[in-house]
Amino acid sequence: MSLSSNTSRIDNLSLKYGLPVLVDVLRLDLIHPIVSGNKWFKLKEYLKDAKDKSKKVLVTFGGAYSNHIVATAAAAQLQGFKSIGIIRGERPSVLSHTLSSAKDYGMDLFFVSREDYRRKTIPGEILNKYSSEELYLIPEGGYGEKGTLGAADILLQNDTSFYSHIITAVGTGTTLSGITMSALPFQKTIGISVLKNNFSLQQEIETLLPVEKHESFQLLHGYHFGGYAKYTEQLFRFMNQLYSKTAIPTDFVYTAKTFYAVIDLIANGNFTINDKILIVHTGGLQGNFSLPKGTLIFG
Ligand SMILES: *Cc1c(COP(=O)(O)O)cnc(C)c1O
Repeated sequence: MSLSSNTSRIDNLSLKYGLPVLVDVLRLDLIHPIVSGNKWFKLKEYLKDAKDKSKKVLVTFGGAYSNHIVATAAAAQLQGFKSIGIIRGERPSVLSHTLSSAKDYGMDLFFVSREDYRRKTIPGEILNKYSSEELYLIPEGGYGEKGTLGAADILLQNDTSFYSHIITAVGTGTTLSGITMSALPFQKTIGISVLKNNFSLQQEIETLLPVEKHESFQLLHGYHFGGYAKYTEQLFRFMNQLYSKTAIPTDFVYTAKTFYAVIDLIANGNFTINDKILIVHTGGLQGNFSLPKGTLIFG
């Protein structure tokens, strides 16, 4: 597949789920089975820039379960770059599914201490091997102006002018920024933060947006289920129920929490029957491979 062949489908959730408010789903998860939907969008402007600058090696950062790492590895292979992943923490005896996929896509993995990771230090071994003319740094999670610019295209794949609210999962907030950038003036965007008490997000997203867009988005912090990549039995029950009603698979880190939030917000009267909601299904399904077999009825 190529980055330009993104096709996405819109599914109706309200009828199948018996919701009193219109809810549709933009299925970015259908773009690629392994590579998470929003990650292609966040990466494409970086890839273009790297190509323009004749860079050879993409370097980026992530944890052992990072969808961004595996997406960068796949995109690099597809477009003829070498790729290096700088991974937080010690090398585990058994690589996570995410990291072994990244390796299969040709990524070299370097494990660094949490402290070096926080400082975003590039290991000397990499600097000795490649010149700075060859290396191209992509920020952790694709956060930044180029990530936002790419993510702005998410809403332009289909006609989305019909919707009053557009809702997505939030990690770094780059995807929400992009969506907010291309949303029409009457549309509100809502981000479901999957990190616990990550209140600096507001500022981090505002930094990526022009001032006139600062009132257009809203962040919700009450649906993290204990924190990043944390889960409960209730979340798994919800994922299985959602799948049996709608045949929509979700991942436990991002999209399940987002779908749960939307249904909960509707049940608690936060929307009116005139509202028209679009959930952006940002993909990430490969993350479910880290769960014990049999947890989910799909995947
Ligand atoms: C990375 C990711 C997100 C978060 O995107 P940000 O732009 O970092 O906020 C949401 N959903 C899925 C499935 C992801 O993999």
